[in-house]
Amino acid sequence: MESLIKNEEFIQSIRGTCLFSGDLEYEQERALYNAMIDKHPAMIVKCEDVADVITTVNYAREEGLLLAVRCGGHNGAGFGSCDGGVLLDLKHLDGRWIDPETGIVKVEGGCTWGDVDHLCHAFGRAVPSGIISTTGVGGLTLGGGHGYLTRKFGLTIDNLVEAEVVLANGELVVANENKNADLFWAIRGGGGNFGVVTSFTFQSREVKEIYGGVSFFELERSAEILDWYLPMIENAEEDLYGFYAFLRVPPAPPFPEHLHTKNLCGIVWCYTGNLQRGEQRLHELMQESNPVFTHLGAMPFPAIQTMFDALYPKGHQWYWRGDFFTEITPQAREEFVKWGSQVPTIHSTMHIYPINGAVQHKKPQDTAFSHREAKYSVVYVGVDPDPANKDLITDWCKNYHEACHPYSSGGAYLNFMMEEGEDRIRSTYRANYDKLVEVKRKYDPQNLFRVNQNIKP
Ligand SMILES: Cc1cc2nc3c(=O)[nH]c(=O)nc-3n(C[C@H](O)[C@H](O)[C@H](O)COP(=O)(O)OP(=O)(O)OC[C@H]3O[C@@H](n4cnc5c(N)ncnc54)[C@H](O)[C@@H]3O)c2cc1C
Repeated sequence: MESLIKNEEFIQSIRGTCLFSGDLEYEQERALYNAMIDKHPAMIVKCEDVADVITTVNYAREEGLLLAVRCGGHNGAGFGSCDGGVLLDLKHLDGRWIDPETGIVKVEGGCTWGDVDHLCHAFGRAVPSGIISTTGVGGLTLGGGHGYLTRKFGLTIDNLVEAEVVLANGELVVANENKNADLFWAIRGGGGNFGVVTSFTFQSREVKEIYGGVSFFELERSAEILDWYLPMIENAEEDLYGFYAFLRVPPAPPFPEHLHTKNLCGIVWCYTGNLQRGEQRLHELMQESNPVFTHLGAMPFPAIQTMFDALYPKGHQWYWRGDFFTEITPQAREEFVKWGSQVPTIHSTMHIYPINGAVQHKKPQDTAFSHREAKYSVVYVGVDPDPANKDLITDWCKNYHEACHPYSSGGAYLNFMMEEGEDRIRSTYRANYDKLVEVKRKYDPQNLFRVNQNIKP
């Protein structure tokens, strides 16, 4: 396999770098964010431009090689690499531009959200994304994308206006509402199944500073706080965002020493409207809920986007699963509390992300992302730096998921899934699945792009 890949003519035609086992940078570049997954591609192509992407796609197709595509490398299931094939790395495609008048932002397919936030913030703007700045724009967007701005401005894909895509046949096409509209529909939730997206164009939103932070509560109050939180966030104004979490308090500032390593529950807040109103609103919510610890204030939007980056560097062991919920019933709540009270390590957690509000301004069939009526996207996350704790975090996560899943609406957010089989993929897309297969047949009939939550042609 290696000799087939080490093709001088191909290497000479690439402006970027091709890495092979034994090369100085190979080990570092092949490493995934999730250290539980250890893959050895035969060749890593660090593409420099769109021409490199086209050449690499053509080469992999013509030689019949397995092809993986990587942006931020954050995928939990490790789809940002492969064993024995070609890894097309987009990291160096990180150009980004903004039109200050319209707020239209164009970013290349290898950018991280930190890149986008940095550019947009200078113009008092932001693109709705996730909650960690090191995540790649590519994977997060293609799966849907939800985070602090979701209740107000919808999913990341609801703010996508155009993409440039290198198809399996090597052709570069534009996809938007008017051109290749079927492809544009499919990439808004359909993952990396349809081609390599070399640029994403978003409508950014006016968000400069937010009022937010965290509030923590004693574990004994977790059921009561959940009962208070759920109806509150379901009925809240779209300016208010807060996700519920079970956690273990990190032994570091700003947390007081007496709380260090304690199991608690908490809410992470982000108010995107008028700052004074945000302060007043959060003050009211704190009086209603009476937390044991708060760390709240006005901050630039990139500050909340990077608040948890240091806690989650590359190289930890990860195992996670997800679910959508249209309702969290009292029986489900019992399971949430039971397993949430047993968070096994400092980095492990469970988050209930609200995805009501603006997400529901679109219908399930409007984009490939189908679960539009779900009010919550839940993630059960086992994380630890120590490989010795791999089983501990994996078992806790699986048990948690298995206990809560029967109460869910089926399927899961694509970006919170491991390799969990075709049924899970089908129940994630539901009625949109058949159309996705049709689009896949049209744009990638040989399934060249299959290192992903795969939709078989
Ligand atoms: C710490 C952490 C926090 C997270 N928080 C959130 C959150 O708040 N909200 C949220 O929605 N998600 C969140 N996620 C999940 C995240 O969306 C997924 O892990 C996603 O797959 C990461 O995208 P990536 O580009 O970094 O990953 P990669 O591993 O590089 O890619 C993931 C998949 O997308 C494909 N892909 C990536 N870029 C392209 C491209 N340009 N063209 C074609 N295919 C491409 C890859 O082939 C692969 O199949 C989080 C993940 C982590 C690890």
